[in-house]
Amino acid sequence: MILDIATVDHDVELDADVCVVGSGAGGAVVAHQLAAAGRTVVVVEEGSYVTGAAFTQREEQMLPRLYAEQGVQSGIDSGVAIARGRALGGSTVASLCVCMRLPRQIVAHWATHFGLAGLRFDELTQWFAQVEATAQVQPLAASEVNRNNALLQTGAARLGFRTTVPAHNRVACLGCGFCALGCAYARKADALTVQLPAASRLGAVIIPSCRVERIEVRDGKAAGVAGRFLNMPGQKRASLAVRAPTVVLAAGAIGSPALWLRSHLPNPYQQVGRNLHLHPQVMVGGVFADEIAGWQGIPQSVVVDEFLDLDRSVEGGYLLSGFFAHPMTVAALLPGFGGAYHQLLGSYAHLGMAAVTLHDRSAGHVELDAAGQVTITYHLGDDDRADILDGMRRLADVYFASGAQRVVLPYNEPVELTRRGDYRPIDEIPFRVNDPLLFSYHPQGTLRMGIDARHSVVNGWGEAHAVGRLFVADASIFPTSTAVPPQLSIMAFAARTARHIVEKS
Ligand SMILES: Cc1cc2nc3c(=O)[nH]c(=O)nc-3n(C[C@H](O)[C@H](O)[C@H](O)COP(=O)(O)OP(=O)(O)OC[C@H]3O[C@@H](n4cnc5c(N)ncnc54)[C@H](O)[C@@H]3O)c2cc1C
Repeated sequence: MILDIATVDHDVELDADVCVVGSGAGGAVVAHQLAAAGRTVVVVEEGSYVTGAAFTQREEQMLPRLYAEQGVQSGIDSGVAIARGRALGGSTVASLCVCMRLPRQIVAHWATHFGLAGLRFDELTQWFAQVEATAQVQPLAASEVNRNNALLQTGAARLGFRTTVPAHNRVACLGCGFCALGCAYARKADALTVQLPAASRLGAVIIPSCRVERIEVRDGKAAGVAGRFLNMPGQKRASLAVRAPTVVLAAGAIGSPALWLRSHLPNPYQQVGRNLHLHPQVMVGGVFADEIAGWQGIPQSVVVDEFLDLDRSVEGGYLLSGFFAHPMTVAALLPGFGGAYHQLLGSYAHLGMAAVTLHDRSAGHVELDAAGQVTITYHLGDDDRADILDGMRRLADVYFASGAQRVVLPYNEPVELTRRGDYRPIDEIPFRVNDPLLFSYHPQGTLRMGIDARHSVVNGWGEAHAVGRLFVADASIFPTSTAVPPQLSIMAFAARTARHIVEKS
């Protein structure tokens, strides 16, 4: 059952075997698996239940409806703009559907450096296969690569850079291009469309528009959650209490540490909220003589993985991937002011756009301020800055190789490159906070896995070191950056944790 919160006019108390907080990539998979194993499950989600015609494909409506903080949340020094979902289905509703498995080198690194001896790539394969089957992950057809992504493919091929067309969790996609605003045609196999309805059919109670304010602990063990319904104008906001001997925290890499801290759960080694990785991105644009109409078709279908060499080093490196958006977002991403900016926006139809996505070594921190609000600190280290600048050079190479007349870089003042190889501005402009503009869609790592409680928060199965029967199943658990887009890995680990919960109870 997915609760229609318009029917809630009094405080609600429920009992369940398991309460799951958050309904995104991790929470939805856990809920589905546990319901399939016969457990009574309650899922509590802060975001609202959006379906069908409510996906209006308008940025000014959908960004506040689907994203936390009305669209983006910035770090304490505004150094990076973070976009994360806040809706039933979490960030998967806004996802571009790229599905990549966690690289084997990263798994091996976690096993050896974080004492996760039970973690093996071949053991994870079954979980990846399972979540791929459920999320209907399949390769894209060549005809689904749109013009914007084809530019990347062509330029990279001319330069001999390795590319891949990753699989996607979309079915009979119409190619309307509005993925980041949620799918109006229900063609994404996201948590809203697949795992949550499946869990609901198996008896799970799914409660949208209700914020969990506290995780309850009794005698050192999770005992349930307390929350409050949102979106109830003119009424007293009703409360929710779920009594459950197992709680799964899946509120995402910002929401989960925040809730941990708000609940005053044990934090003996001050690890909660640390180790935030963001996969920071910078956008690079190419202006072409021909019309590209980058907003049409699947936004992200080509990835250049030449510069992510995990055999050489499990740390550092980056991906280049096609990226396009609708006018409001593109206007926010493009550099400059006044007439020059107006002229650049005028070339929207002729723009190719792609992003450098960093496999970041830098680690930030999620904390609460005195008012209990989230603060995010994140600074790029020198190695990561060098990789960002290198990525901009390589993307410029790719665009010139595919015929760009000029290349636009994401600095505050307009910076354009007009010739391949003449990249002096990249070398000369000092790297400052928010200049170039960094953004992030993949926060992770803030309640990380490990064997040693002095350096981690949960064990290799996602169970908290410091609280019994409290599990974490979201992007928070990753010990380092995943290197590749994380949603499939979050799902695979969540499925694995769900199995563990079933076996333990
Ligand atoms: C625009 C966009 C595009 C993306 N594209 C891709 C892609 O193509 N491929 C890929 O691999 N990844 C992509 N990602 C990232 C991916 O979607 C996320 O990494 C993944 O969904 C995170 O899963 P999660 O379970 O950690 O959290 P989420 O999916 O973010 O879910 C967490 C949920 O918890 C809820 N919550 C938080 N606090 C509370 C609380 N106190 N009470 C109740 N509920 C709470 C939130 O509202 C949210 O709905 C994209 C992300 C965005 C924003």
